[in-house]
Amino acid sequence: MALLSVSGLYKSFSGVSAVDGVSFSAEPGELLCLLGPSGCGKTTMLRMLAGLEDPDAGTIEFDDRTMNGLAPQQRGFGLMFQDLALFPHMDVFGNVAFGLRMQKLPSAQVQARVQELLDLVELGGLASRKVHELSGGERQRVALARALAPRPALLLLDEPFASLDLDLRRALARELGDILRQENVTTLLVTHDQEEAFALADRVGVMHQGRLEQWDSPYNIYHAPTNRFVAEFAGYGSFLRGEVLDENTVRTSLGELTGRSNAALIPGSQVDVLLRPEDVIADESAPLALPVTRRQFTG
Ligand code: ADP
Ligand code: MG
Repeated sequence: MALLSVSGLYKSFSGVSAVDGVSFSAEPGELLCLLGPSGCGKTTMLRMLAGLEDPDAGTIEFDDRTMNGLAPQQRGFGLMFQDLALFPHMDVFGNVAFGLRMQKLPSAQVQARVQELLDLVELGGLASRKVHELSGGERQRVALARALAPRPALLLLDEPFASLDLDLRRALARELGDILRQENVTTLLVTHDQEEAFALADRVGVMHQGRLEQWDSPYNIYHAPTNRFVAEFAGYGSFLRGEVLDENTVRTSLGELTGRSNAALIPGSQVDVLLRPEDVIADESAPLALPVTRRQFTG
């Protein structure tokens, strides 16, 4: 039995659908990621899970309980949203301790848990800093520590690093995976950044116009996308038009390509063949002359 089961979730605003029949499930301790372009419904999805938005239809079950209709604080989930600011009048300690104090934990335990979390996010020495004395990256770590402190049953992260520059995003994304696995918290993260999703997630759901196009391992999303949208969103690649000769062979402008397909190939039909950059290898024994039409330096 899954820990989280989302089934047939719908939400529209003024007749326009934002989330259009999404279903998926999560096992305990999994790190899941919803990946998709801006406007595809990721935030709306998370807000429904958090209880900040009521679905028009569908059910959310967690630990065998129906969450529909429960207020956010009754769900026991941790939230870290892109625009969920820290409390500016509190220091770092106060921010991280907030949820623990709400739980009326004895102060010695609050102290110990806050210190544990600050050490985990490598801010051990900054407990008495004010929020305005922190860098952007430090603030995001404090927000993460604050969300994790009360040991949420499920952690919901909405583009937690979107406001940071690329270097810091990459570094924090790597650390986040380690931190979440150390805390063993079941997590659903949403992002539009394919690299971030692949680096972190056990399973990825690709969203497009409110629908979940594919829910799979990062490897399969990249190498066995179910459709053209997923293929294009998951990474660099080119498409070649081709004609199916038999179930393993397609004739293209580069010659006859042989391989396995995740769809049934019907001889005589026209198909698009996805070519990832790393699929192209130089074969010294059968050189092929290809003109270079354009090149671009990317470091
Ligand atoms: P994402 O987080 O993937 O960028 P959102 O869930 O924020 O996408 O938005 C999905 C769609 O729903 C967008 O078209 C957005 O304009 C619309 N939307 C989201 N929230 C509201 C709202 N409160 N009122 C009206 N439209 C909304
Ligand atoms: Mg969003």
